[in-house]
Amino acid sequence: MNNMDQDALRKRGFLRQKQNGFFILRTRTTEGNYNADQLSAIAGISKEYGRGIIHTTIRQGLEVPFIKLEDIDKVEKMVHAAGIEMGASGPGLRSTTSCPGNNWCKSGLIDTFGLFKRIEKELDIRCSMDLPHKFKIAISGCPNTCTRAQVTEIGIHGQIDTKDRERRVGYAVYLGGCGGRNPQTAFKLERVFTEDEVLSLVKRTVEFYKRDAKPRQRLALLIEEVGKEKFLREIGC
Ligand code: SF4
Repeated sequence: MNNMDQDALRKRGFLRQKQNGFFILRTRTTEGNYNADQLSAIAGISKEYGRGIIHTTIRQGLEVPFIKLEDIDKVEKMVHAAGIEMGASGPGLRSTTSCPGNNWCKSGLIDTFGLFKRIEKELDIRCSMDLPHKFKIAISGCPNTCTRAQVTEIGIHGQIDTKDRERRVGYAVYLGGCGGRNPQTAFKLERVFTEDEVLSLVKRTVEFYKRDAKPRQRLALLIEEVGKEKFLREIGC
């Protein structure tokens, strides 16, 4: 199999694995969740076409290793029929991670699932979107930041605005973090934002990155190159 074939399969959610002839099915959550039927479908695929193993990824996805090349079309149909989204790898937007927020966590301040949905549906910023390099978004319901907003390109968490007389709940935003071999801690924007303002920041940051980053340049390095002040002006801060 040549590299182009492998890239095409990777875009469909099947990654070549270490053992020759086998592929890993990579799926992702929608709004941070799988439903019970989807979990049953993934379990069925793993039993029938894999080796009964399901691996949970750091970005809340589920992977099924040991899928044979000849089974990929059948597995793909089963995944789509169950309404499961494929995960991503390579340059592009990775699966957005989201904690439960105020949907059921007692510390949650914001509706994390709702924000996840708005980013995908209203901005069309969704997993696999082509970008110059890896780019991640993490949403947490409160300053405990269980999804690690500080080491993500765009990290968002719910926050009480202590400067507001009514102490309204808003959104804190971190930009320019990443993990990997050269980890960077994101910087936190000084204000507490509304949800609509957060959407605008996400849109402008992704657009700026897509337009100005060189191939394989992560956001942290782009900000370093253009300067933080210019970057903030570009995204309307
Ligand atoms: S970040 Fe906050 S709301 Fe989200 S799971 Fe952690 S404690 Fe709960």
